[in-house]
Amino acid sequence: MLEQIQGLHHVTSIASDPQRNNDFFTKTLGLRRVKKTVNFDRPDVYHLYYGNGDGDPGSVMTYFPFPGRLPGSPGTGEVGCTAFAIPEGSLGYWEQRLVDFGVRTPKKYALFGEKRLAFQGPDGDFFALIEVEDDPRKPWTGNSVPSLAAIRGFHSVCMRIAKQRAMIELLKFMGYHRINKEGQVQRFALKAGNRASFIDLEILPSAPVAVQGAGSVHHVAFSVKNQRAQQEVRSALLEMGHEVTSIRDRDYFKAIYFRSPGGILFEVATDTPGFTCDEDQDHLGLALKLPKQHEHLRPLLEQELQPIVD
Ligand code: ZN
Repeated sequence: MLEQIQGLHHVTSIASDPQRNNDFFTKTLGLRRVKKTVNFDRPDVYHLYYGNGDGDPGSVMTYFPFPGRLPGSPGTGEVGCTAFAIPEGSLGYWEQRLVDFGVRTPKKYALFGEKRLAFQGPDGDFFALIEVEDDPRKPWTGNSVPSLAAIRGFHSVCMRIAKQRAMIELLKFMGYHRINKEGQVQRFALKAGNRASFIDLEILPSAPVAVQGAGSVHHVAFSVKNQRAQQEVRSALLEMGHEVTSIRDRDYFKAIYFRSPGGILFEVATDTPGFTCDEDQDHLGLALKLPKQHEHLRPLLEQELQPIVD
C-alpha cells in the first residue's frame, strides 16, 4: 500500500463560457483565481485555476472553458460531485448567498453526519459545501466572502461507478481506508492527509455511462509532495498493471495520468513548485501566463482568447 498520496491536488472540469465560469468561482463562491493560463496541449483554450488564499494543493478547482461546448450528461465513470469545506455554522450564510447570486434551489441535507449544501454550477456541474471543524487552511477573503464562511479547500469528491471491486482495490492501494457507508455511498479516507482526504464512492450498477461535456469533471488529481514520491507512485502503479503516462511538466507541478478501473481519469501531481513559481503571491492569477513552449503564440492568443473581465 502506498503512503505518498496526501489527498486531492486539483479537480479539472470542462466549462462553456470563460467569463461565466470566472464569475461563478470568484464572485459567487468567492474563490481566488490563482492562475490564468492555457491548456498546455490546446493553447487556444484557457486553463483557469481557482483556489483558497494560498492556492494550496487540495483546494484548486480548474477549468478548460470551450466556448459553445454542449453540456455533458451525468452518469457512471465520472466524478459526480466535488465538495468544498466551509467552517462550521456557515451553511445558512451560503444558502442565502447562493440564492442571492441566482443559483437555483441549493439543497441542504446531511450525509455521514455532516451538514452539506448541494447545488449546481453554471454548466450544470454538481457541487457541495460541507461544514467542517477547525480547518486550518487559509481562506480567500478578497471576493466579499467573510473569513468566517469562506471556502477552505476541497473536502472530497464523490465518484460514481458501476462496479466497485477493482476501484476499491485501487483506492486501498493508494492508501485509502473505507471508514463509513450510508445508502449506496461508501466513504474512504487517508490516515493522514492534506484535509482534502476523503473519497466517496457511489455504486450505481444500472445507471447510464456519463457523456463528457460542459459541466463534467475531466480528471481528478491526487497530491504527492515531490518528484521522488511521484516516481515511487508511478513505478508501483506500473507494477500493478496500470497504464501510466510519462511525467509531464505542467510548470506548476509535474503530472502523470492513468485511467482508473471505474473509467475516471486519475492524475498524480506534485505539490512543487506551486503557483508562485512565475508570479508572486500578491499577484497570483492576474496576468495571462503562458508556458515557455507557447510564449511565441502570445500576440495571437491575446487576440483570440475571449477576454475575461474581473
Ligand atoms: Zn490536472
